[in-house]
Amino acid sequence: MDNILEVSGLRKSYGNFALKDVAFSLPEGCITGFIGVNGAGKTTTLRTLLRLTDKEAGKIQFFGLDMEQNERQIKDRLGIVLDDGCFYEELSLSEMKSIIAPAYTAWSERDFKQYMDMFSLDPKQKINTLSKGMRMKYALALALSHEAELLIMDEPTSGLDPLVRSQLLKILTEYMSKGGKGVFFSTHITSDLDKIADMLIMIDNGSIVFQEEKDTLLDTYRIVKGDVRALTPDLRKLFLNIYETAFGFTGITKQVAEVQRMLPDAMIERPAIEDIMLGNIEGGNK
Ligand code: ATP
Repeated sequence: MDNILEVSGLRKSYGNFALKDVAFSLPEGCITGFIGVNGAGKTTTLRTLLRLTDKEAGKIQFFGLDMEQNERQIKDRLGIVLDDGCFYEELSLSEMKSIIAPAYTAWSERDFKQYMDMFSLDPKQKINTLSKGMRMKYALALALSHEAELLIMDEPTSGLDPLVRSQLLKILTEYMSKGGKGVFFSTHITSDLDKIADMLIMIDNGSIVFQEEKDTLLDTYRIVKGDVRALTPDLRKLFLNIYETAFGFTGITKQVAEVQRMLPDAMIERPAIEDIMLGNIEGGNK
């Protein structure tokens, strides 16, 4: 499997925040979720990758091509959905499309119309009258209408109602079924990823915490529930984090066999991606 994006040593700082030698790669044929809490550095990473903001150091290669030397050629092959969508507010959707479409060699008017209909968007409506969700749908219609090989989306589901969110997940699955494609999307709504992601990359405070296949990740961690009185100092060390109430404790661990040995009566459950994300923020990697 070829990598469609390779990033190494990426640095960018704003005041107290910095991307710290960010490195990861996206294999072809994968939907990759880029997760992290508010302010972790997801948008900064995406904007830096796309050269919308200058990097201080690092190497970025899309499709085996260096981004600095091949930006135009690379962007022709990318579908980009950003939350601030750089549009001229006073134009209609159709007018804005007419400005954007000629930039892409493989623009398909037929695909665009199909997505506009699917999302119930009126081509005559002005951009500055769109709701947040409609704006996201419009950006998505543009990104999907030029045979992009990699879709890069910043929080695409955040302003969408459940119906459109599930439509979007379906569209992404269909898009991937064409083969040779990739999707990279940032989100803190991790339940969307439980359904469709193949790979997960987590960022926290500007550093990559892990890059792992989703199924491997879900097999590695376990949620453990038990009696607070059983929590000896040695047992506590096996957890990334622990929540305690009067009724018991809930903790997340990577050392499930050891926990089971020390606490045979414990209730063990599979985690959701959100549990893994929170475990890695609050307790650090153990
Ligand atoms: P969210 O989920 O809230 O969108 P995020 O993971 O995308 O968060 P970023 O938007 O990348 O996080 O922000 C990371 C940090 O960088 C934050 O502390 C933010 O305040 C800071 N930051 C981002 N852009 C700028 C900027 N243009 N000027 C100054 N600071 C910035």
